[in-house]
Amino acid sequence: MKCRRCGARAVAHLRHHNLALCEECYSPWLQRRVRETIKRFHLFDRKAKILVAVSGGKDSLALWMILTKLGYEADGLYIDLGIDTEKYSQRSLQYSRAMAERLERTLHVITLQETIGKTIPELPAARGTCSVCGLVKRHYMNTWAIEHGYDVTVTGHNLDDEAATLLSNVLNWQLGYLERQAPCLDEREGFIRKAKPLVLCTEKEMLIYCMLNNIEYIQDECPYSVNATSIFYKEILNRIEHEIPGAKLRFYSEFIKVKHGIFKGFRKERLTPCKICKTPTTGEICAFCKICIAPPKPQHSIRETSRASSGPVRAKIEKSGRNSISSKNMEIKTGSKKEV
Ligand code: SF4
Ligand code: ZN
Repeated sequence: MKCRRCGARAVAHLRHHNLALCEECYSPWLQRRVRETIKRFHLFDRKAKILVAVSGGKDSLALWMILTKLGYEADGLYIDLGIDTEKYSQRSLQYSRAMAERLERTLHVITLQETIGKTIPELPAARGTCSVCGLVKRHYMNTWAIEHGYDVTVTGHNLDDEAATLLSNVLNWQLGYLERQAPCLDEREGFIRKAKPLVLCTEKEMLIYCMLNNIEYIQDECPYSVNATSIFYKEILNRIEHEIPGAKLRFYSEFIKVKHGIFKGFRKERLTPCKICKTPTTGEICAFCKICIAPPKPQHSIRETSRASSGPVRAKIEKSGRNSISSKNMEIKTGSKKEV
């Protein structure tokens, strides 16, 4: 098969786009697709200060590289969840650090053991480990980004992730979740802008990009993902896609087109600041604080800081050296009100 663009030998055949591309043409094509997604959904502008949620997996690392290649100022935030099984968190951090070195960008690291004194496996998980984990990650992405002056946080959710979430939300008629499912959530009081620049790129497309750009990433699945229903939904969608190429893309993008009309006038829940962390919530204390913080602990002091920092987060900031894999580490303890 030949490349549709230049006629050289194709390395990727994307049935859903009826497109074959060679090694040379593939990466520029995918990068252009991400750039068009950013424009189409008005995710952020050229000058935006971007914080990428980096997990050590293929999508977030590739996204960080693509944004940097497209000329955006993007730093990374890695949240060390303390998942010890086969050193999962430790190895994920190593891949994230390697990418920071390669891109010569800053990687911030938050270690849960240091911030809340517990790892993800140690936290109470009445609604499942992944539910708590998602809550913790969303909390820190939001508070860290706001406290450090970022304009937008971006995540590596790809089309397969979004289509699986959509299927789950439709099957359960989760109207609140459906209303919020979007490539971009605008900033509002207490919440930073959140964007997903890979929503139109499939898992397979991201995998090919990583291979062609020698991106090393953690290939093992998180041990807690074994029973995740999202994997089941992805398998079903892949079977549909196999029979009907392009079905996944249409399922998601048509929903995004019609959802504005569907949810016009949809009443959102009233939010007030959490009494502990000030993040907007429906009750008095947010779910993060109920699980990770309460009862409140005494405040702690600033040991060393980099850039403006305040609020209930303690983390390490790692700034990539030009040629060296060792990073300049600065441990900061912040939080004028309380220790977390
Ligand atoms: Fe967290 Fe679950 Fe993802 Fe593992 S699979 S990183 S526990 S959300
Ligand atoms: Zn709170």
